[in-house]
Amino acid sequence: MNEKIKLIYISGIGRSGSTLIDLIISTDPKVFSVGEIYKFNKIKKENIPCNCGKNFSNCSFWKDFYYSKYKIKNRINLIDYIKTINFIFNPFIKKINFRKKSQNYSLLKKIKEKTSSKYILDSSKDIARLIELDSNPFIEVYNISIIREAEEVANSFSSRKNKNKKNYFISLLKWNFINYIIVKYLKKRDYSKNLVIDYEEFCKNPKKGISSIEDFLQIKIPKEYVKKIRSMEHHGLAQNRISQKEKRKKFEGISLKQYNKKRSTVKKLLEKLLTYPSSKIKEKLK
Ligand SMILES: [Zn+2]
Repeated sequence: MNEKIKLIYISGIGRSGSTLIDLIISTDPKVFSVGEIYKFNKIKKENIPCNCGKNFSNCSFWKDFYYSKYKIKNRINLIDYIKTINFIFNPFIKKINFRKKSQNYSLLKKIKEKTSSKYILDSSKDIARLIELDSNPFIEVYNISIIREAEEVANSFSSRKNKNKKNYFISLLKWNFINYIIVKYLKKRDYSKNLVIDYEEFCKNPKKGISSIEDFLQIKIPKEYVKKIRSMEHHGLAQNRISQKEKRKKFEGISLKQYNKKRSTVKKLLEKLLTYPSSKIKEKLK
């Protein structure tokens, strides 16, 4: 008999605060974060460091996985997205047949055996991966979707500080596309297993946001979560730098940092046009 695995999944477009939410949830020992596990094959191949500071092959948690043969497929590619869209909009399609299958269950089972935590937390974000995980009857997925303002996400993607700098307007289009799919897909899911976080609201009122997460997952975030984040053990993979051990020691808590809102009229007009199709996304999800 296969045992059901409880998995918390964080979905959304990049640059939306998923790492922050991951760290907060990870303060409860009932949760074990694996970070962006969909990059598993790449992480293994390049022996990328874990959040604990050690390389994958030397990390006390992951070293046993270094010679393992699990295949986890990264779904961020055009073909899989076309299939995803077809699945969401075509009522005759009951499931997606991804070209290359991931061994999600066996990998998660092995992870579960090594931890005593109730939940595994997967912050991969990719919506196609959420659909893939949902299709496995032995994985019980608690999905948390994070929506951050389109202009903020696009600013972050196009920031000069970003190693893989992306075009601002292309990022706005991507924001529309991904969040539109998320909105559509969440309506197909069991409502009790969805939680939507408005990133800006969350940062303005963390107490309220944290309590909605606690209710959703039946967990307890300690009052001194900032201190806990600074010192806890965390073996998340391939996440934003703020989750790395040395960075976490300086974690200052939740605050809303916004990009400069002063933009030219032309830029503002273009923005309006590009975000028009989904300008009500946040409202739609409430
Ligand atoms: Zn580690």
